[in-house]
Amino acid sequence: MLAGRGGAPVGLGPGSGRRAAGGGRRAAGERSGGVMSSEVAARRDAKKLVRSPSGLRMVPEHRAYGSPFGLEEPPWVPDKECPRCMQCDTKFDFLTRKHHCRRCGKCFCDKCCGQKVALRRMCFVDPVRQCAGCAPVSRREADFYDRQLKLLLSGATFLVTFENSEKPDTMVCRLSSNQRFLLLDGDGDGDGHREVEVARIAAVQMLTEGLPPGDTLSHTSLPASRPAAEGGNARAIGMTLQYTTPGAEGLTQLTLTAGEDADGSRRQATAWLAAMHKAAKLLYESRDQ
Ligand SMILES: [Zn+2]
Ligand SMILES: [Zn+2]
Repeated sequence: MLAGRGGAPVGLGPGSGRRAAGGGRRAAGERSGGVMSSEVAARRDAKKLVRSPSGLRMVPEHRAYGSPFGLEEPPWVPDKECPRCMQCDTKFDFLTRKHHCRRCGKCFCDKCCGQKVALRRMCFVDPVRQCAGCAPVSRREADFYDRQLKLLLSGATFLVTFENSEKPDTMVCRLSSNQRFLLLDGDGDGDGHREVEVARIAAVQMLTEGLPPGDTLSHTSLPASRPAAEGGNARAIGMTLQYTTPGAEGLTQLTLTAGEDADGSRRQATAWLAAMHKAAKLLYESRDQ
């Protein structure tokens, strides 16, 4: 049987066409979009149902417009290359059938590959069969999709500093519903609207607190180091993003900082940052695939 790639759409070039404002302000009129551009946007976000040997998948019509957190289905280890379960070494025969783990593509008996777990990153509609090594990883990711992704989509209020701005703007930052852009919106009299294409993010640094006095801020870069913002005493209070913009050389930088107000928006901002931190890890993983 062919590796579980059935029906995967042929990819377009990365980032083709779609305007990412990035550093620049949008001209008046672009904001509202107009009929034409929203139709184009809708077409780009269109999805189709694909049935492969692995299961039913809801994939983007155009691969280049898929989620930056997505993973490709792995090729399946061919049947003839695995006479035995790759976990418990049981020999396959008429009674002991072989099953492929949807996440790693390796070959197992039913006992070693019997767990069905959601695998949103590969666009599976239903939970799919996974091995003992992959199932816990997918469960943790399911937690990201169930909780943190929702936070990212609903957004939070930050003080936003662009590299050439003198004072921070108060802006709401959220992930677009297609997961491909960070959208920043000012309160009207400020800096208007900006977008950062997630696929163009080159570096994420968390700003944390909870460290000894005198050293209250530290930069934790991803993916190399183990961030204090996760688990330890420190928690994220800000984040610096470096990203490329189409047509511009070098990296653009912006910094999000949770405000000081006590009305709960700071708590929402720190939760958003923790979610974004997790998202950055998924992003790097998807790139490294
Ligand atoms: Zn087995
Ligand atoms: Zn596996």
